[in-house]
Amino acid sequence: MPNAMQIPFPLRRRFCFGLSLTAFSSLALFSASAAQAATLRAGAAKVDITNREAGPVHDPLYVKALVLKSGETTAVLITVDAVAIGEIGHIKNDYLPKVRGRLEKELGIPPTNVLANASHCHGVVCADVEERTVQAVKAAAKELVPVKIGAGAGHEDRIMENRRLKLKSGREADVRHAYALPPDEEVAEVGPVDPQIGILRLDRLDGRTLAVVYNFACHPIMGVPGGANTADVTGFASQVIEDNASDGAIALFLQGCGGDINPVMYKDVEHPRSGEPLGNLLGLSTLKGLRKIECREDDRLTVLNETISLPRGDRTQRIFDLEAEQQRLLKSLQGTSLNLKTFIPLLVKYDVSGEFPSYYSHRYLHDEALGRSDFAKLDAENRRNMKQYIQNILTMEELTRVGTNLALLRKHQAELVAAGKRTIDVELLAVRIGDFTLATFPGELTVRIGLNLKQQIERPNTFIAGYTNGYIYYAPTAEQLLNVGGAQEDSDCILAPEWQKIYETKAIEMLRKL
Ligand SMILES: [Zn+2]
Repeated sequence: MPNAMQIPFPLRRRFCFGLSLTAFSSLALFSASAAQAATLRAGAAKVDITNREAGPVHDPLYVKALVLKSGETTAVLITVDAVAIGEIGHIKNDYLPKVRGRLEKELGIPPTNVLANASHCHGVVCADVEERTVQAVKAAAKELVPVKIGAGAGHEDRIMENRRLKLKSGREADVRHAYALPPDEEVAEVGPVDPQIGILRLDRLDGRTLAVVYNFACHPIMGVPGGANTADVTGFASQVIEDNASDGAIALFLQGCGGDINPVMYKDVEHPRSGEPLGNLLGLSTLKGLRKIECREDDRLTVLNETISLPRGDRTQRIFDLEAEQQRLLKSLQGTSLNLKTFIPLLVKYDVSGEFPSYYSHRYLHDEALGRSDFAKLDAENRRNMKQYIQNILTMEELTRVGTNLALLRKHQAELVAAGKRTIDVELLAVRIGDFTLATFPGELTVRIGLNLKQQIERPNTFIAGYTNGYIYYAPTAEQLLNVGGAQEDSDCILAPEWQKIYETKAIEMLRKL
């Protein structure tokens, strides 16, 4: 898509503040009215998009809209409590084009200035989500009021962890419910998290908060006890913010680079898993950051929109290698005398009483006094069998990982063949709202990408949102892609490693233009 408009503003602003001497009364008058005309105006609204026919509901899912207007420019931020904008889940591929088409036709908003981000929660949205999205934007556009704005950051490091585990073998595994984790002793290192919460605050001129936009990197996939429909961690966080900010304030969550970030204790089997306490912590930390932000008049509003081509990865060789690995693992399974019923009691006995597992100690002592070693030999045989049985289980667990990731590789390889071309076009946005700047990507960027971009741009209040304006699966780093087939992020991915450099260069270029 072509470049969207940029706002010519700084000249007028400098003029206005630099020459407001009473001697230049006509100039002062002109600059005052110019400043008034240039005020940023905003409106926000939310509409429930919960699918109430899809089983029990724990908490509502929302589509939220923030409409911003400065001079001739209008921009729309849409956040959706859904897994993705198209491709997977319940939002269809025609959602964004249809929403944009209607906003253009009915409100005159250019399609290039519409940003739609999915929180990536795994809730079920209603069938008419597109209609309700348009409703939310219209409601927001109807209530535009002058605002003061400010940008800042909060900090939260208690609720998430990097889900990719570096193994001593040099390979990487990931934390999923789809398969078992590798044994603890094989894990060497864990990856980074990004504790920064990016915040944009929009206050009405009387000081009441109209809307809060916040950006954070974490899969909101903890669920709620009982498994009912939920907007998950970030839904709870937004509720905490809305309950504690001014009446009627709308909190819009922009998912960040959460591709390899999970909620903590994601694999807990001791307690019912719940995203609510995690979301409450995120909401409170956002409020803490929010309170430090001072809002001021700032009419800068810029949206850049570009489409670039990224190289797709060919996984033919990797699929071949993994199939061979699958066969090797299968062949390594060895029969033992044990089955599950005999293995588990043995495991307990040999753990509780390592020296005399098979009977009381006196029987072992008699055996020894009589010059026999029957019990010692039985124990040695049982230990051999148990060791092999455990090895078989570990191999089976490994097979579940290989099988699941191989299926992902095969699926994307078939799509590559069907696509008939080796590149994929992706739409990127760069947005400035006052001091708040944002770059987007239509896929699951892993956290390192976000950390890289923030470091490279060296500008405060610059944030990155994946999961925006489309969905092209996971987007791991070139280094993570060396592990293709070993973890979800590198298997549920259609990109070639070169994609990272191309995207990062373009994102920085667009951010610098803002
Ligand atoms: Zn994901």
